[in-house]
Amino acid sequence: MRVSNIKIIDDDQDYVECVGDELSGAHPKIFLNLKDADGQIECYYCGKSFIHKSKFKRKKNV
Ligand SMILES: [Zn+2]
Repeated sequence: MRVSNIKIIDDDQDYVECVGDELSGAHPKIFLNLKDADGQIECYYCGKSFIHKSKFKRKKNV
């Protein structure tokens, strides 16, 4: 298992799709809903984190 696999995405993107990657292993394609998750969500297959650009910046600058 790998840690801190974070992907920054655009704020206007409500959904992301994830199929895993070489690091964490491939998995069936799933869609994650960022809108309901307040701009940050973790893939329950591979553990990759998706986060909205603005959310990420805010986090860093606080
Ligand atoms: Zn995934």
